[in-house]
Amino acid sequence: MQIRRLGERKRGENEKFRAYLKRHNFVERRYKRIAEEIAGQIDCTACANCCKVATAQVSDRDVERLAKYLGMREREVLSEYTEVSEDEGRILKRNENGCVFLDGNLCSVYEARPDTCKDFPHLVHGTGSFLSRMWKMADRACYCPIVYNALEAYKEEAGFRTLAG
Ligand code: SF4
Ligand code: SF4
Repeated sequence: MQIRRLGERKRGENEKFRAYLKRHNFVERRYKRIAEEIAGQIDCTACANCCKVATAQVSDRDVERLAKYLGMREREVLSEYTEVSEDEGRILKRNENGCVFLDGNLCSVYEARPDTCKDFPHLVHGTGSFLSRMWKMADRACYCPIVYNALEAYKEEAGFRTLAG
């Protein structure tokens, strides 16, 4: 995966950039617009790396929605499709291809997917502040082309290269 090499090469710089952003004023809406523009240029169905690589946390509401969609009882959804991780709480089960609901490059429960999947990669939408969501971006830049390109564009927008070298 070429994106992994690129992301890893930039990991140190991306971590520095996050620290830089915390110390500088920035207009969040501009960053969101940049991310939206980049997302609009990328075909997620040709990628699906997030579903292959990242874990997806599920809330009670997500389980309720999945149960309705799948015509199952909530407790069946819980036992069949979810597990509890020590670090992340309840997450969707995974197999050797990634998320249990991933079918090829497509989500088999797309209309009922968990909120975290809808918000991914959490640049435009998500829980918590924009800055608080930035802490995972150096990792995400190693598999998500939207994040990789957005961070590069953010650095330009913030004048990071000229100031931080
Ligand atoms: S539920 Fe769908 S969108 Fe979410 S990780 Fe699984 S396959 Fe991907
Ligand atoms: S990793 Fe990023 S580009 Fe790839 S499918 Fe997920 S959101 Fe889209």
